[in-house]
Amino acid sequence: MQLQRSVIICAAIIANTNLFAQKDPPTTEIWKPEVKVVTPGKTNADAPSDAIILFNGTSASGWQHANGDEAKWTVADNALTVKPGTGAIQTKQKFGDCQLHIEWRIDKNVKGENQDRGNSGVFLMGRYELQVLDNYNNINKTYVNGQAGSMYKQTPPLVNVCKAPGEWQTYDIVFTAPRFSDNGSVVIPAHITVIQNGVLVQNNTTIWGNTEYIGSPFYEKHDAKEPLMLQDHSHLTSFRNIWIREL
Ligand code: MG
Repeated sequence: MQLQRSVIICAAIIANTNLFAQKDPPTTEIWKPEVKVVTPGKTNADAPSDAIILFNGTSASGWQHANGDEAKWTVADNALTVKPGTGAIQTKQKFGDCQLHIEWRIDKNVKGENQDRGNSGVFLMGRYELQVLDNYNNINKTYVNGQAGSMYKQTPPLVNVCKAPGEWQTYDIVFTAPRFSDNGSVVIPAHITVIQNGVLVQNNTTIWGNTEYIGSPFYEKHDAKEPLMLQDHSHLTSFRNIWIREL
């Protein structure tokens, strides 16, 4: 009986303590650690102070071909342009979770249709492709999960916000890498949010596996960090102002 009464008293004290705590504003305030200060750029396109600059307009020294050769793409007029036939290029540094800003431009004299029109791509971790293609005003017909702003052969963009060939466009990307178990199974799939030209086109979209041209996507276990890759699809597509923040 004595024990039972003690338990009841203790429970009442805890309940009262919680009640007091709930009425005390500081109990739900987090003061430490302070949030790191980052100086923003003059516009959202300018790299903030903690970004890693991957292409500043003059040097592609942070890039190489998959076989380790020097990047052979053309650096001119502040842009990095695909040199058709030389192959994809990838960053020397590897990245996992990240915020990526990249600007791209379809050649103003672009020709061709469907997937054969200004095609390139931003491959997160070298394997998850955010498509680059000319889809200005829905003139170039293609499958919607293969148009610009799509996660290729997976998820179409929410809207088509493409600019005309010859104009610079922006992708601002938030990417969360997949998590794998020791046996290689996927614990959490990758996710991606993409803002194209200031407009949301992928909203925390689940990525279902490696980008596959034929067949369904599937995951293959890989490292927590992998190179960022840009695609050579034999078209004169350009990139500039590429910066990344590791998360
Ligand atoms: Mg592509």
